[in-house]
Amino acid sequence: MSTAVHTRDAGGAAGPAAGHERIFEIAPPEELLYSISADGSRRFMHPVVRKGHYWHIRRRIAYALMVLFFALPLIPIGDHPAVLLDIATRRFHMFGATFHPTDNLLLAAFGFGVVVTVFFVGSTFGRVWCGFGCPQTVYLEFLFRPIEAFIEGGPTNQRRLNKEPWSAHKLAIKAAKWGTFALVAVLMATTFVAYFTGWAALAPGLLHEPAKWTGALFTIAAVTGLIVFDFGWFRDQMCTIACPYGRLQNVLSDKDTLLVAYDTARGEPRTRLHHETPGVAAGACVDCGACVAACPTGVDIRRGLQVECIGTAQCVDACDEVMRKLGRPTGLITFTSEREQQGAARRLLRPRNLVYLALMLVAWGTLGTLVFTRADALVEVVRGGREPYRVLNSGAVANQQRIRFTNQLGQRQRFDITVLSPGDATLVVSESPIVVDAEKVVTVNAVTTVPQGRFHDGQATVRYLVTSDGGYRKEIEFLLLGPYDSEGRDR
Ligand code: SF4
Ligand code: SF4
Repeated sequence: MSTAVHTRDAGGAAGPAAGHERIFEIAPPEELLYSISADGSRRFMHPVVRKGHYWHIRRRIAYALMVLFFALPLIPIGDHPAVLLDIATRRFHMFGATFHPTDNLLLAAFGFGVVVTVFFVGSTFGRVWCGFGCPQTVYLEFLFRPIEAFIEGGPTNQRRLNKEPWSAHKLAIKAAKWGTFALVAVLMATTFVAYFTGWAALAPGLLHEPAKWTGALFTIAAVTGLIVFDFGWFRDQMCTIACPYGRLQNVLSDKDTLLVAYDTARGEPRTRLHHETPGVAAGACVDCGACVAACPTGVDIRRGLQVECIGTAQCVDACDEVMRKLGRPTGLITFTSEREQQGAARRLLRPRNLVYLALMLVAWGTLGTLVFTRADALVEVVRGGREPYRVLNSGAVANQQRIRFTNQLGQRQRFDITVLSPGDATLVVSESPIVVDAEKVVTVNAVTTVPQGRFHDGQATVRYLVTSDGGYRKEIEFLLLGPYDSEGRDR
């Protein structure tokens, strides 16, 4: 067994075997968070990572997500980066398409999709999202902790260094670590801001005209501070204290939800190697503590399902390594479900999450359909002016309107609008044709005039035809207001 794996004393206290340094801690019997000592002080975690099966999967996912985060604002698709959330002009460019705040249906489908996906993933896979895909775990475990280990050494060295009195050596190491954290955080924060400004504007702006980019500089500084605080100091407390997803998980879980669990029937009574009691069948757990030492939130998974467990499977890798070294079957700690633990078959899909799955497919299907059948333009007619209508000397009734043209194409369009019916209606527009640049919005004033005889109960329907040189064509119906009787009087 690796020398980094230590044993606890027979009494079950947190102490290691004599002569070994203590590298893991078991929470006291009172139900405290593992990261908080009985006196309320912070207990820092220094997980001893085992590079097993799940660690390799998580590392691949983590690197892919990091590359994606840094690449999306850099990769051009059409005239914009793959993702550009241009709040200033209220245009959101995503993978070649441009969305506006008026895309209400899209926004609703997206929001609903996110909610039901969280429900489906949470009820089916438990906290697998936390352990495998959440940015908190991804950046902490696969970027900031590796930097820390590179500069300070492994968990044992880190603990030793922290206990040392301050010296020039300790100061240099800590400065190197926090300085590197700050550099990485600046890069992450600047990339974050680039999602809203685009690198093409941000980079020259920061380099040549920083005085004009004070808002961006302030945001970069604030986000950098938050990143360093979170990944440098706050760490596991984000998952165990602050994150609402963990609390939501309690509501979403049931007996079939996937979780990381210890096989008590096989593991107990836990017995340290060479400490077997004659005549008593020893469990498979050798009480080495490797699972606890590996846990980034300090959980002792042998105590059962706990809210602090974020599903990283680091304890699974640690225990499997121990079992392999002992020549015993792996899987003493594994992904399972409460029902499976009780001897029944695993049931990942069940009525509850099948409903979530169906809703999820509806939401994302609707979003996909809306995106792929998106019109080249949006044209909206709304009432304008201070009065609902005016009766002209000729006896005709005029309605003032405002017509908004949103060009959703990546090229300029010239729009024309004419009246289809009634045939004796006339339309005057403040400009014609209406020229709208790529992905821009133009609003024009208009007056529609209709003979008074067309009005019934104070209303008359008019139909417009909107066309563009980009191939857009749409008929729009609008309800005009007018007098209730033929003398031009209201009721
Ligand atoms: S108990 Fe295991 S799965 Fe849960 S957070 Fe700790 S190491 Fe990860
Ligand atoms: S469950 Fe596995 S890793 Fe944890 S103490 Fe027992 S043998 Fe060691």
